[in-house]
Amino acid sequence: MKRSKKIKMPVPPHERHDTIRKNIISLLEEYTLTAREISHYIRIPEKDVASHLEHIKKTLNRGEERLIIESARCETCNFVFKKRDRLTNPARCPLCRGRLINPMLFSIEKRG
Ligand SMILES: [Zn+2]
Repeated sequence: MKRSKKIKMPVPPHERHDTIRKNIISLLEEYTLTAREISHYIRIPEKDVASHLEHIKKTLNRGEERLIIESARCETCNFVFKKRDRLTNPARCPLCRGRLINPMLFSIEKRG
């Protein structure tokens, strides 16, 4: 019986990031997802998703596609977190102080 040995090659960090970003891009070309869902599919910590998305947003802006961000929204009073530069979800609503926040949704769309 043949056994294939798994050889672990050290991957340079920048290459790994490239792969992660490529995977996120192909996911978002197909689906509209929250940061949590992206972290689940790509198997990276949820806190890392925002920085990858920020990078993707910058690179895509020069190309044929663009990153679509649907704002987070308060479940209780429907307040929409429109002016948000960071791609992390707000913890609580400034209007009603509610903590039930519908997270941001991300997808990628072709221009044109
Ligand atoms: Zn609210």
